[in-house]
Amino acid sequence: MTPPTSGTTLGRDLTLGILGGGQLAQMLALAALPLGVRVTVLEPDAQAPARLCARHLHAPYTDAGGLEQLVACDAVTLEFENIPVEALAALEGRVPVRPAGALLARSKHRAREKQALREAGATTAPFEIIEAEGDLDGALARVGGRGILKTSELGYDGKGQARVNTDAELRAAWDDLNRVPCVLEGFVAFEREVSLAVARTPSGQVAFGPLVENVHRDGILRASVYPARVPDGTEALARDLARAVADAWALEGLITLEFFQLPGGDLLVNEVAPRVHNSGHLTQDGGGLSQFEAQVRAVLDLPLSDWAPLHPTAMLNVVGMDGPDGQPLEPDWAAIDAMSGTRVHLYHKAHRHGRKVGHVNLVAPDADTLRARLASLEPLVP
Ligand code: AMP
Repeated sequence: MTPPTSGTTLGRDLTLGILGGGQLAQMLALAALPLGVRVTVLEPDAQAPARLCARHLHAPYTDAGGLEQLVACDAVTLEFENIPVEALAALEGRVPVRPAGALLARSKHRAREKQALREAGATTAPFEIIEAEGDLDGALARVGGRGILKTSELGYDGKGQARVNTDAELRAAWDDLNRVPCVLEGFVAFEREVSLAVARTPSGQVAFGPLVENVHRDGILRASVYPARVPDGTEALARDLARAVADAWALEGLITLEFFQLPGGDLLVNEVAPRVHNSGHLTQDGGGLSQFEAQVRAVLDLPLSDWAPLHPTAMLNVVGMDGPDGQPLEPDWAAIDAMSGTRVHLYHKAHRHGRKVGHVNLVAPDADTLRARLASLEPLVP
């Protein structure tokens, strides 16, 4: 069988619409331009990062005039999953939307997502759906006695989540979350967290990103490292799972799977992002294709191949931090800049405690040097 070829070749002027204008849109637009692709973003925030490098339609996601301008693009993608369904409904059938609204509807709702992952053949943490008082009875015992209660929608970076060890804590946590629909997940004693992205073009080309190891701090991604320290076979397993989900969900575009790696090497899928992901930022500077270029290519049906750094690469997030006196804690930019192998990426966002404002990528000749330099870099970033 001959492999599928792409539907579009480079060398044409193309336009890409993006729902959302945050830092992911900024980096998608920067990757798109050298491919001959101009980007238009629909984004309600006047100060959003992508305004500086893309055409910015400054309007709500449901604005009829703004959506009409996206219809004129060759394709539309997204950088943010919490787009109102009406916005997608207004676009679908008039311009290719990749990924499609049906995929988005699954990935932005934890309960639906977990059910759809299981139907695709992936394993998840044990879970119980909590939507009514009666759902609490026995739920914690059924997920193993310790769990994490998460809102089904609108949670990110550890927000809308609570660890619970007793029935009383579960009830109190659900009250604290205003009794919105939730998922109670069993607590997973994982060895490490890893992620991997998969992309598929409308013509059927499938390609994978690298398997990346992730470290969180206070529910927010702190660092990602490639290559991941995983048992043999783990990357192949991650690819098999990613392909199964891409097929079952009829992917056009790019999705990122976050996994819990268990001590034996097995993988549970934690969640799926319908887009490029913070853990893939290190692909910008490792010498290979970046995840941003991969999403642009997949969405516009341009030729696509696997993307992974050619060298060991890490990423350290820069998150706004207030010191004990309430004043912002600044990274030591001069020292970061002077370190061998660092590349700074800033998002032009005002300081706020807990807000991602940039990241530093770090490239090294070998994996041991990378880990050693990352250990030196970390104290420079509060
Ligand atoms: P999430 O928003 O689902 O990505 O959760 C944020 C972080 O909380 C994850 O990256 C894990 O570090 C941790 N976490 C989430 N769910 C679980 C779980 N079921 N068991 C153990 N840790 C978890």
